[in-house]
Amino acid sequence: MAKPADTRTAGRKAVAKATRSTAETEKIRAALAARRDELRAEYDQTLSEITELQRERLTDSAGDDQADTGTKTLEREQEISLANSILERITQVERALERLDEGGYGWCERCGNPIPVERLAAFPSATQCVTCKQLEERR
Ligand SMILES: [Zn+2]
Repeated sequence: MAKPADTRTAGRKAVAKATRSTAETEKIRAALAARRDELRAEYDQTLSEITELQRERLTDSAGDDQADTGTKTLEREQEISLANSILERITQVERALERLDEGGYGWCERCGNPIPVERLAAFPSATQCVTCKQLEERR
């Protein structure tokens, strides 16, 4: 087996437009896909909980006064907004996957360096590296 070229010593200090290896891109893709599946499962779970809760509320509505009805409506709204926020995160991850295919994903928008795979896996919508993010928060 041929010894792979040592790319680690070359260009630790990334020049203007750094490149990401295919392996790294695949790692990001896998992390994003896993996150998307996770969120979808969470979303399905939330939806079936909402359906279940709504059924309980409807069967248990005999003798409700206006206050009860109001509370139930509020609860339902909160559940739906939770479901929507999960859906929004799914959309973010899907958009990230599209941008990854186009090669425009995972680069810091401030300094242009690649954002570490671990950070992208944890925050798929991250558009800055940790250093730049911290600089911005300090302002
Ligand atoms: Zn940066």
